[in-house]
Amino acid sequence: MRARNWLGWVAAMVEDCIFCRIVAGEIPAHVVDEDERTLTFMDIAPATRGHALVIPRQHAADLWEIEQDELLAVSAAAHRQALRVRDRLEADGVNLINSCRPAGWQTVFHFHVHVIPRYDGDPLKLPWVPAPGDMQEIAAVAQALR
Ligand code: 5GP
Ligand code: ZN
Repeated sequence: MRARNWLGWVAAMVEDCIFCRIVAGEIPAHVVDEDERTLTFMDIAPATRGHALVIPRQHAADLWEIEQDELLAVSAAAHRQALRVRDRLEADGVNLINSCRPAGWQTVFHFHVHVIPRYDGDPLKLPWVPAPGDMQEIAAVAQALR
């Protein structure tokens, strides 16, 4: 099992997975939470204010590939983040979304859970169409979430 995980990591790096590169610190990200197994950082094209992504540090392509203990660690981190957007951003609700495979709207093939704060009356409709975010606003909301 350990050898398979190591090979998976190597394969991910070879394939140049963008989220593996964030884990490795090769691409900058506004990280708001981390532990031994997971990383939570702001989405670059937020659907609402405070939209974050929770990922396992170890590469797994999607929900059908991720090991159960990794999924449990990501779930716990997503729960922490959901509480954080309630407490720090005064969100009125939250959506946790995982997209699996292109048929399920997945575009980045490193497992992730979207934590999308919802605000009473916000205009978001699912699936949202990502549009580049305002980087200053993303940095400010990351600061509020830390
Ligand atoms: P998916 O479409 O796979 O469910 O979600 C992928 C998400 O990753 C999108 O919401 C997209 O905005 C986000 N994303 C793609 N590239 C980057 C990046 O380089 N940095 C960050 N922080 N988010 C990214
Ligand atoms: Zn990866």
